[in-house]
Parts: sequence; structure tokens; C-alpha cells
Amino acid sequence: MSNGQITLPEQKVPVSREVDVVVVGGGASGIAAAISAAKNGAKTLLIEQRGFLGGMGTVSLVPAFCPFTDKRKTIIRGIGLELMERMKAACNPDYRREYEHTLDWVPIDPEVLKRVYDDAAAEHGVSLLYHTFVYDVVLSENGRTIEGIVIVNKTGRSFVRCRYVIDATGDADIAALAGVSFQKGGEQGELQPGSMCYMLANVDRQRFLRFLEETGDTGQLHKTVERAIAEGALPEGRKSISGLAWVNDYLVGVNFGHVFGIDGTKAEDLTRGAIEGRKLAERQTKFFRDYVPGFEQAHLIASGEQVGIRETRRIRGDYVLTAEDFMEARTFPDDIARNAYYIDIHLANSKGSMTFTHLAPGQSHGVPYRVLLPEGVDNLWVPGRAASSDRAVQGSLRVMPNCFAMGQAAGTAAAMAMGVNGSSRDVSVPELQQRLLEQGAWLGDNYASAAAGG
Ligand SMILES: Cc1cc2nc3c(=O)[nH]c(=O)nc-3n(C[C@H](O)[C@H](O)[C@H](O)COP(=O)(O)OP(=O)(O)OC[C@H]3O[C@@H](n4cnc5c(N)ncnc54)[C@H](O)[C@@H]3O)c2cc1C
Repeated sequence: MSNGQITLPEQKVPVSREVDVVVVGGGASGIAAAISAAKNGAKTLLIEQRGFLGGMGTVSLVPAFCPFTDKRKTIIRGIGLELMERMKAACNPDYRREYEHTLDWVPIDPEVLKRVYDDAAAEHGVSLLYHTFVYDVVLSENGRTIEGIVIVNKTGRSFVRCRYVIDATGDADIAALAGVSFQKGGEQGELQPGSMCYMLANVDRQRFLRFLEETGDTGQLHKTVERAIAEGALPEGRKSISGLAWVNDYLVGVNFGHVFGIDGTKAEDLTRGAIEGRKLAERQTKFFRDYVPGFEQAHLIASGEQVGIRETRRIRGDYVLTAEDFMEARTFPDDIARNAYYIDIHLANSKGSMTFTHLAPGQSHGVPYRVLLPEGVDNLWVPGRAASSDRAVQGSLRVMPNCFAMGQAAGTAAAMAMGVNGSSRDVSVPELQQRLLEQGAWLGDNYASAAAGG
């Protein structure tokens, strides 16, 4: 041992699987990637460290899907929309009645969503391996190809040999292990805060709505939260609730407040986030019971298994999507999706402020294929929260509908690369776009009409 380090003995590990495509991470980007890779003919394995799929939407109880529309039309279609509709259809009748025609801010019933994802993966022939962490990659001699990944789980350590990898960890874990350049947070390393989301049962929505009507407070409880902060019932920080998502009249998902200074790529920070987050959720529950009519009997039934993480690494890809691209609503020749969600950057400390930048209703910008392609590696795609963009655009691109769309493109592209026995950059972009359109995606009016015209 020297300098606080040890050298581990060289170890032989078994090859536990051989597949065409490995998807690491089962959040919105990973589930869409795995389904589309399998649907397009690839033998696909999806590896997830938890015992279920859903990523932030189930692990961290993020309570609602961000909009699938640009306020005029549905722009996120394809697998993501299908999965959300399946979740709605599997929910209780009162949920279905209320949200049947809703496409924006649809509340998540996490137990239903977990089962819907399990079933959808199975139906498309995706192999699932839960409770498994990917902690290393093996690269080819020239360093440009991932030959397989090293996993650890209760069975032990093993190697998964694969031809293509989709890094849907949200943190670009695999890309970082493969030596891809990335940036974490802002210029000073500042990161958006984490939030511990949770669910309150035994609440009375109708009474709550009457309270809003009588007091003129907003749905985000601006007045009530400000009063509670002034009276010391809540800590300093954002002076409103980010969101309440009513699963039904007596159960609500809550996204409220922040845990600052958490780097989601560090176990020590995630540990602090878990402990501080649960404390905050308990304090906020007391606030709800004491200050908010309809919540007098609120019962905290679940908090996230992990504090919700908005931002860690962003890979350096073949293209870096910028705030200017967003503001100008640019279209690219290699678009694989479109995004209309606003730039939503949360304060990095309790004295900071929020940044919101909206596109006009009906406007969206293109998401080029190149943002999924990490520089220097030929058989890897990074869809989701860690795709290649500047920090401002990450504050918009990171939401679940976009992650579904990027995941669908990555999975489809991986299966197509296999078909031509080539790299991620050998995929014909027009053919990829055509395949995405055929499989339900929406890439903008130009592409939609091209598809209609054959
Ligand atoms: C508090 C909060 C509120 C939000 N609000 C909304 C909202 O209202 N609506 C919305 O649409 N979006 C919202 N978002 C954003 C959105 O939830 C995430 O950005 C999105 O889920 C990212 O999807 P992803 O697939 O890239 O990653 P994730 O959802 O983070 O999924 C990554 C998955 O990979 C797994 N994983 C990671 N590393 C490894 C590894 N090495 N080995 C094995 N498995 C691994 C993780 O367990 C996880 O399941 C919010 C986020 C937060 C934190």
C-alpha cells in the first residue's frame, strides 16, 4: 500500500452474457433505448442497479411527466408516448377519467409505472438484469470500441460481451469509464440542487382547491410558503413548491425544495442527500399539515429511494447543442427528436434564483443525432440527461419525454449499426429518421410530410 492506495490482484471473471446491445440504466432513456433496440432486431440486455425500471420517475419519485406537447400539438410521440398511455390505462378508473386526455404534466403512479415498464420490456424481448451495477468497461487496443462491460451483483463480478453500448445512466458513467470528455455542471462546477420527492396520502384535494380559491394563493403555494419561511416553519430557499401531482383526490406526489451541493456521481454526496432529503420531507409534511387546508391528516408514505438528481456530467459529443440553438428554434439535418420544454435551471444554493426561458407555443428545436455520439468512441450512444449540450440546454433537454425520444433514437441506431456491421457513425441518418417516423416518432413538420408522401 502506498499513498492511501492499494493495487488489487489481477482477477479472472466469467463472461456472463454475450449480446448485441447492452443498455445501462433503466430510466426514461434506457427503457426507450432497450425497447427500440430489441424491436429493431438486436439481442438486447438492459442492466439496472435498482430492482425496477423508471429512473428518476420511480427511484426518486419525480411526480409527473413533463409536457409531451409544444402547447399546440404533440411533439414527443413514439415509445415514450406509448409507455405513458399504457401507464394511464393501467391506473385506477378515477385516475383514467381525470387524465385520459392529458398529455402535459401527467402524474406518475410509481407502482403502476414499474409494472408497465417490466411488461413492456418483456413483450419486446428485452432481457433484464436488475440489482446490478456496471463499474468498468473493457476497451479495444485503440481505445475507440467498448468490447464489453464489467458488472457486479449478488452473483459476483462478471463480464458482459457486447457489440454496442447505450449509456443511459443519466450520469454518463460508461462514457466516463471509456475516457470520453465531459463537463459537470457550470464553469465553477456548480450543480443544480437535488430534491427529495415524496408522496402524501390521506389528503383532501377538493378542500385544498377551495383554499386556493378563497385565499387567491397559487397552485405552487407562493403566499403560504413565503409565510412559512418567514415564520421559520420552512428553511430558506425556493419560495414556492415546484409541483404537486395529484394521483387522485387523496394521494399526491410532491416535488418541493432542494438539497444543495450534491454531486450525484459521488456516493458520499448521495448519502448526505438521502439523509438531508428525508429530514426536509418530514419538515415539509409538518408544514403541509399546519399551514395547508386539505393536508391536516397528510401521511408521508414514501420518499425517493435516492435524492432526485437534475445534473451531473454532460458528454462532449460530435455536436454540442447550445442555448442559441434553443432560442432560435433551430432545425438540423440529422434531427432525431424535437424539444419544446423550457430551460429550467434550479438555484445552486439557497440564496440563488431560478432560470426559466420559454419558447413560444408551437415552437420547438431539433435534437441532432450527433448529441448522442460521444467523441472518441465508435460503439457508444449517450441519450438522456447526459447528452451533449451546454448547461443551459441541459436544463431543458433533461426531462423525461425528451429522454424517451433520445433513447428511442439511440436504440434504433444501435440496431441499425449492427445491421450494417458498422459504428454509430456509419448509420445512415436519413434511414434512421425514416425508421423513427415509421415507429411513431415526430421529427417536425418537414419530416412528417416527407413520411406521409412516402
Ligand atoms: C427533483 C426532480 C424533478 C424533476 N421533475 C421532472 C418532471 O416533473 N417531469 C419530467 O419529465 N422530468 C423531471 N425531471 C427530470 C427527469 O426526471 C430526469 O432528468 C430524467 O429522468 C433523466 O432520465 P435518464 O434516463 O437520463 O436518467 P435517470 O432517470 O436518472 O435513469 C438512470 C438510471 O440508470 C441507473 N444507473 C445509473 N448508473 C448506473 C450504473 N453504473 N449501473 C447500473 N445502473 C445505473 C439508475 O439507477 C437509473 O435508474 C426531474 C428531475 C428531478 C431530479
